[in-house]
Amino acid sequence: MIYSVEKKDLEIGISACLIGEKVRFDASNKPSTFCIKEFSQYVTYKSFCPEVAIGLPIPRPTIRQIKQGDVIHVAQKDGSGDVTEALSAYGKKVASMTSSLSGYIFCAKSPSCGMERVKIYSPEGHALPAYGIGAFAREIMAANPLLPCEENGRLNDPLLRENFVARVFAYKHWQTVAASGLTKHKLTTFHSQYKYTVMSHDLIAYKELGQLLARADLPLAEMASQYILGLMTALKVVATRKKHANTLAHIQGYFSKHLQPNERQELCEQIDAYREGLIPLMAPLTLIKHYLLHYPKDYLTQQAYLSPYPEKLRLRYAY
Ligand code: SF4
Repeated sequence: MIYSVEKKDLEIGISACLIGEKVRFDASNKPSTFCIKEFSQYVTYKSFCPEVAIGLPIPRPTIRQIKQGDVIHVAQKDGSGDVTEALSAYGKKVASMTSSLSGYIFCAKSPSCGMERVKIYSPEGHALPAYGIGAFAREIMAANPLLPCEENGRLNDPLLRENFVARVFAYKHWQTVAASGLTKHKLTTFHSQYKYTVMSHDLIAYKELGQLLARADLPLAEMASQYILGLMTALKVVATRKKHANTLAHIQGYFSKHLQPNERQELCEQIDAYREGLIPLMAPLTLIKHYLLHYPKDYLTQQAYLSPYPEKLRLRYAY
């Protein structure tokens, strides 16, 4: 990685049931193997169970989102025990205390914690053809649009898992740079380090971010806030195999004149094999890193793309 971060300094908010706390309506939990066994080696969790925090007991009757007119309430199946306001208020309270977080993992489908696609019912109990957002999760996400957020179920998809983890580490890097006192030079350096990362997600965003930093009319604080919003939005776009292959080709172009013909040929073949789906991303990246040891290029060594998060997470072996 291009910067070091201690586990204790990388805080991730999480729905308490996902790390084994028995706080669900039936006194069970919903453990996420990735969160508990893998990601936890590098991050410190701050767990929240909004339903318990607002005073609901364990066990408790289930609650759901019910649409009455234009308003969605969170209440028991028969409409009693409305906790909409309480969940919202608790969400606002937590959101105001979580500027140190670098990501949040929500429990999917929950009327309180679900990040998206939460079922909505009619007062008569019919599932409606619409989906909502958990009343607690909505407040957390609204208060910090930069915060990388994901759900437990989606983290089982290798591409979405990689995308979330990459966003968490990029955001933590940004938080660290910003906390050290932002200057134009630091902002430009940061952008330079994320060149290939952004390129692999959204080429247009990469160009727009470069144009933003070239503007002379913007105060630094305004430029920085527009920049990080643009970057975090771009990183949400999932990097496809085609975009990665194009990014690898750009990297190859950067130092190909230093390679021997047989080395250049080998790298071309690896990139083509990756593009065709024959090998995982890790293969051409390993070769590039190997060549960088022989032909050092500071500009490339400093690229977050080559080392966006701890390698032991093995996130680039699956696609
Ligand atoms: S989904 Fe949220 S509210 Fe429900 S048990 Fe888990 S942490 Fe608590």
